Amino acid sequence: SQEITLAQLRRWLLAFTDRIIQQELYLTELDAAIGDADHGTNMRRGMDKVRQRITDENAPCPDVSTLFRTVAMTLISSVGGAAGPLYGAFFLRAARGTNNGAKSITLLQLAQMFRHGLEGVQQRGKAQLDEKTMIDTIYPAVEALEQAAQAGKSVADALALAREAAEAGMKHTIVLQASKGRASYLGPRSIGHQDPGATSAYYLFETAAETLGQ
Ligand code: ADP
Ligand code: MG
Ligand code: MG
Repeated sequence: SQEITLAQLRRWLLAFTDRIIQQELYLTELDAAIGDADHGTNMRRGMDKVRQRITDENAPCPDVSTLFRTVAMTLISSVGGAAGPLYGAFFLRAARGTNNGAKSITLLQLAQMFRHGLEGVQQRGKAQLDEKTMIDTIYPAVEALEQAAQAGKSVADALALAREAAEAGMKHTIVLQASKGRASYLGPRSIGHQDPGATSAYYLFETAAETLGQ
């Protein structure tokens, strides 16, 4: 079946850093409504470091596992706030879901890595579906990706379905009341606002569909 190469995965991660950097102010605006107005700044700081690190020609990442682990460690060490360790857990656990030394992966393996990543975020943050967090984006996207991979869809079609599910999950956070993270302090006043972390997580899947599906 169709392979996803190390170079493509690197391109995806660079596209993700670019999207977060473009959307920094928007993410901070979303966090201003239900949090402490720093999600854009937090993520941008991390993405600047990730970009530097994975474009450093003196320290190239030789395989998929190292690439993901490097992104994880960079995020954990540079992003303050709740989201840094949670994204770190996603990439760290995803890295563990792949074979050491692999320079390409199948769609099924990508789905497995994302499944591990989701479990890592849930283990660290203890959030379930519908608590108005990044889980509301990642969970349905992983489910859609897995189903599509198992049904034998192409990489492009599977990632398009994952992107759609991620978008629906992100938008669904608008009607939810937060019960995890800072937004939970607002109680029912958190309703009516899109969750910032669910929004940054959407860009993971949006950029994956844009870069890995070709
Ligand atoms: P902080 O809340 O520390 O300022 P950020 O603003 O960077 O950190 O990130 C906030 C986002 O983190 C939220 O919008 C939410 O999506 C996510 N988040 C917070 N707590 C959790 C949790 N326990 N599990 C999953 N995601 C969480
Ligand atoms: Mg915040
Ligand atoms: Mg903060």
